[in-house]
Amino acid sequence: MNALPSEVTVPAPVVDLVATLERAGHEAWCVGGALRDAVLGLPHADFDVATSATPEQVRRLFRHTIPVGEKHGTVGVLDPARVLHEVTTFRRDVRTDGRHAEVAYGVSLEEDLARRDFTINALAYHPLRHEWRDPFRGADDLSGGRIRAVGDAATRFREDYLRVLRAIRFAARFGFAIVPETWAAMTEAAAGLKQLSMERVRDEWFKGLRTAQTVSGLVELWHGSGASAEVLPELLREIPLEPALSDAPRDPGLLTTILVRDPAAVLRRLRASNAEIARAAAIAAGPDAPEGGTLIDVRRWLARVNDAADDLLRRHELRTGAAAPWADTVAGIRQRGEPLAREQLAVRGGDLLELGLRGPEVGRVLDRLLSRVLEDPSLNTRDTLLALAREAR
Ligand code: ATP
Ligand code: MG
Repeated sequence: MNALPSEVTVPAPVVDLVATLERAGHEAWCVGGALRDAVLGLPHADFDVATSATPEQVRRLFRHTIPVGEKHGTVGVLDPARVLHEVTTFRRDVRTDGRHAEVAYGVSLEEDLARRDFTINALAYHPLRHEWRDPFRGADDLSGGRIRAVGDAATRFREDYLRVLRAIRFAARFGFAIVPETWAAMTEAAAGLKQLSMERVRDEWFKGLRTAQTVSGLVELWHGSGASAEVLPELLREIPLEPALSDAPRDPGLLTTILVRDPAAVLRRLRASNAEIARAAAIAAGPDAPEGGTLIDVRRWLARVNDAADDLLRRHELRTGAAAPWADTVAGIRQRGEPLAREQLAVRGGDLLELGLRGPEVGRVLDRLLSRVLEDPSLNTRDTLLALAREAR
């Protein structure tokens, strides 16, 4: 069975790039994920080009190039509109250690396709001649909905353990089944995932969360393959029900706070940004909800959770499938611009010092004033607060 379309719409700058390479006597093809997505009828922004030209030859042929992955033979070529396209020299892996590969050039397109991870990612299409190369029958697996390693599955995962996580991601994204031989090899290779840099693990985890058809499907594969036991042991078994969880667009950092135990520690280990870690810590600190449903309860909650309020509201929605019952109250408080923090009070610390308060007292009194203002925002005038401060000392 052949599901390959007779023509694929390739962006004009990419066609030009291929034409330039071929005019100079090299071979050049579109390869990789863009073709897989095109066959599936899905949009894909970047069309990667593979070529027989060496990186040096590619650099000489184009005016504007950027070194994006010299070690892997990838040169970035800027088109006239300053859009970057990746051009990678046909390569084969000569040495691999599960994390890095040493590559050699001077190989054929077929060999280049053979070092790719899954059959569905090992297609090549010629945008001028409209020819396909599909030596591993990726078209059959695309139409049958299957993830299958190129060549001997066990060997392929040992060469690069990241492929275990990539198989999970593609299976969850397309709703494909992982064929038994590939699945068995993955579960065996999972033990090697610890060797990967945690940045790469995070990248796959986040990409998976963004693209999976259902978040629960993704989580199931992380558990079933043994990947979570190795690099994400905090991943929960019981997660909230779809579909709210899978609402798009997804926020992987926020989803992580729902799906794992101790999210800030997990994100720290996965080398997420400091901002992402701090955000997870604030969400975890909560409290998840106001103590009660009154306007004052909600003001107090906002004052307490601060910048985490919107994340907590959204998280409630993802967990329960419904907007937080106190969301409308929050909107009203914000619309009226009611003060929620010490900095928004009509008096400053300096005013209190002038009243004769001593340093250590100032913070305590400001807190007390804020507490009164949270109960009744109309108290937030300079005169009233100064009067209250005098009483409070
Ligand atoms: P997407 O960009 O949607 O995640 P993609 O297939 O384009 O999917 P990339 O990471 O952009 O994935 O890689 C481009 C191509 O390079 C892949 O389609 C595959 O052929 C090859 N490739 C990428 N990573 C690996 C890997 N770890 N092992 C083998 N081949 C890989
Ligand atoms: Mg890609």
